[in-house]
Amino acid sequence: MEKCVLIVHGGAWAIPDNRIDGSLEGVEIAAREGWKQLMQGASAVTAVQTAVNSLEDNPVFDAGYGSVLTDSGEVEMDALIMDGKAMRSGAVGAVSCVKNPVDLARHVMENTDHTLLVGKGAERQAILAGLEIVEPESLVTPEGREEWETYKQYKSAVSSLFSGRDKEKAKEPEPGIGHDTVGCVALDAKGNIACATSTGGITGKMPGRVGDTPLVGAGGYADNQVGGVSTTGHGESITKACLAYTAVINMEQGMSPSDAGKKALEGMMSKVGGAGGLIIINKSGEWTAEFSTERMAWAAIKENTLYSGIHPGQIKENNL
Ligand code: ASP
Repeated sequence: MEKCVLIVHGGAWAIPDNRIDGSLEGVEIAAREGWKQLMQGASAVTAVQTAVNSLEDNPVFDAGYGSVLTDSGEVEMDALIMDGKAMRSGAVGAVSCVKNPVDLARHVMENTDHTLLVGKGAERQAILAGLEIVEPESLVTPEGREEWETYKQYKSAVSSLFSGRDKEKAKEPEPGIGHDTVGCVALDAKGNIACATSTGGITGKMPGRVGDTPLVGAGGYADNQVGGVSTTGHGESITKACLAYTAVINMEQGMSPSDAGKKALEGMMSKVGGAGGLIIINKSGEWTAEFSTERMAWAAIKENTLYSGIHPGQIKENNL
């Protein structure tokens, strides 16, 4: 058990002051829930699924309940899970009526011949698998609706939320509007690494837009021989930069998780201009949370210590 490590994130973006406490509390709760699984001997796959379920059910985050809305005011969610033991992965895109999209991603990984199912076909599998189906409207929170109304007025979601920490380029976010993808990476007692990422996407996205989150190598990556990563941020940039895979390749070339993550984010910013964040665990159990946005809520647990932070450079430490 002393090998075990788990880390979660609640999205990298310009988190407003009034969302700091809720975001930190949410990632800490999710980390504890995933950790409990690891301590009971569950696999890394089950631990990341459990932690992401907690974040999907928490309306503070943009995943599951609390998902943001498309241009036409609807919920369309994406999710990925990857098992670094056998390099298996499963993902879903643009699903509207599944309460916990990461559960469906796991179903795709374990029970189909495919790696990614979208829309109606994915939802049909959710029904066949007996997963919890809900009215899409029940996943919408008053904040999600308000963010959409604000977006409709200003059409500013991407530029204001993912402009990075460069104040020259940054625009102030609209006060109180929320947006935060979730993810988890875990290393279990047997040395297996898994990752999962889940999102409602970006407010005002075109209906049918699938972002980086469900794409292997962009939204996440896990390989027992190297490490695991879950990403967040501007999806189109992350996709073009293959952010998760780039971080893994950096580690494969000998970098620490922290250097690998920083270099991957810098490369993304310089090549395609987008900001974001990632959480990483390498095969030795070293971990990091890195981001180029103004804030990212994260929490990690190792050897009975809970670490968490939301501001650049911040690391709080508490005994479990
Ligand atoms: N990467 C997500 C997307 O573009 C958004 C986020 O991470 O906040 O769909």
